[in-house]
Amino acid sequence: MADLSGQLGVVVGVANKRSIAWAIAQAAAEAGARLALTYQDVRLQEHVEELAAMTRDPLVLPCDVTHDQHLDQLFETIDREFGGLDFVVHGAAFAPKAELADRFIHTSRDGFRIALDVSAYSLVAMARRARPLMLRRGGGSIVTLTYLGSQRVFPNYNVMGVAKAALEASVRYLAYDLGPDNIRVNAVSAGPIRTLASAGIAGFTDILQVYRERAPMRRNVDSNEVADAALFLVGPGSRGMTGEILYVDAGYHTVGL
Ligand code: NAP
Repeated sequence: MADLSGQLGVVVGVANKRSIAWAIAQAAAEAGARLALTYQDVRLQEHVEELAAMTRDPLVLPCDVTHDQHLDQLFETIDREFGGLDFVVHGAAFAPKAELADRFIHTSRDGFRIALDVSAYSLVAMARRARPLMLRRGGGSIVTLTYLGSQRVFPNYNVMGVAKAALEASVRYLAYDLGPDNIRVNAVSAGPIRTLASAGIAGFTDILQVYRERAPMRRNVDSNEVADAALFLVGPGSRGMTGEILYVDAGYHTVGL
C-alpha cells in the first residue's frame, strides 16, 4: 500500500458507498492523505458529507463538472484551504439513460454532447485548474476511471464507449502536456462493477456474467481492487509512469474469445 502521508487530494465522483471513487477515497485516506470530496448537487450533499466524515479533516464541496464556475470555485477553495494539491481522482461519468438502451446509431446530438462533456472534457477542465496547485507541490498525479468499451463494442454501452475513448486519448494528451511539470496522468480501466452508474446500462448483469465465464481469473473484480491500482498510480510507486491505461479486470481485456 502506498504511503500518502501529508498528501492532499481531491476526489470527484462519489455518489454513494458503492462508488468506485469512494473506495479510492477510503484507501487514500487510510494511506494518510487529506481529501476534498465533491458532490454534484444538494440531492447528494448529505450522503457525501456522511461518507467524508469517515476520513480525516475532509473538505466537502459542491461541483457539477459541466459548470466552469463550479470548477473554478472548487479549485479556489482547495487552494485556500490546502495551499496546494498532490493528486486528483476523477470518477465522474454520465450519459442520458435513453442512450444506453437503444442502438448506437440513434444517439442524439444532446446525448453525445452531454456524455462527452461530463465523462471526458471534465478531465481536461480539472487538470488545467489543478496544474498551478500541483506546481506549488513540485508535481502531482491525476487518475481517472475508464472502461474497455472505449476499445471494443459492448452492447448498450454505446456513447459511453465513445466518451471513454475520448477520455483515454485525453489522458495521453494531458500526460504529454503536463509531463514537463512532473504531473502524471493515468487511468485505471476497471472491469464491470455494480454501482449507480452501471445500473443505468441495459443488460449489465449479462456483462458481469460473461466476465465471470471468460476472464482468465474466472471472476469479477471489486472496487477495492480498483482502488488499490488507483492508489498505486497516485503514489510514488508509479513515479515513472504517465499516459498509461492500467487494466483491473481479472485479465478480460487480454482474451480474444
Ligand atoms: P457512480 O458511483 O454512479 O459514480 C459516477 C459519478 O459521476 C457519480 O458520483 C455521479 O454523480 C458523477 N457525475 C455524473 N455527472 C456529474 C456531473 N455533471 N458533475 C459531477 N459529477 C457527476 O458509478 P461508478 O461506477 O463508481 O463510476 C465511477 C467511474 O468509474 C466512472 O467514470 C465510470 O465510467 C467508471 N467505471 C465504472 C465501471 C463499473 O462497472 N461500475 C467500470 C469501469 C469504469 P451523480 O450520482 O450525482 O450523478
